[in-house]
Amino acid sequence: MTPRRPSTATAQDPTVTPARVAPNPDYPGAVLLWVECPHCGRTHLHGNLIASQPTGHRMAYCNRGGYHIGEPGPETVIDP
Ligand SMILES: [Zn+2]
Repeated sequence: MTPRRPSTATAQDPTVTPARVAPNPDYPGAVLLWVECPHCGRTHLHGNLIASQPTGHRMAYCNRGGYHIGEPGPETVIDP
């Protein structure tokens, strides 16, 4: 049996730059974030309720760990 990782942020969790940020059509003012997962290499989609601050710690949907979503960088695609 594999022990579950804690759901809280840990210092070991990597920081990732979102690959894409777009408005969430279902929730005006909120955004969707695409993150290339450092644990499994796939892209995970996260929602964020605050468009002006799309950062924070998340658990990867592959359940292999967590990461901190950093500020959008030069490589980030930002949809209007
Ligand atoms: Zn993953």
